[in-house]
Amino acid sequence: MQELKALCMKCRTDNKPTMQVMNNPVVTKNDKGRYSAKGQCSACGGNMFKFMSATDGEAMMK
Ligand SMILES: [Zn+2]
Repeated sequence: MQELKALCMKCRTDNKPTMQVMNNPVVTKNDKGRYSAKGQCSACGGNMFKFMSATDGEAMMK
């Protein structure tokens, strides 16, 4: 599976969220055709959420 990174609200540097690898990403498409991914932060285990482009979303769902 392709590696997915997202901003983690819990892993902060200088009070800013940092990019972390998402574990167990689940990609879904909403009724507006928008792709998003949900998973857990590999660093802190917290929940992560990210909107994805259609290109990335389709690639992840394969
Ligand atoms: Zn984190």
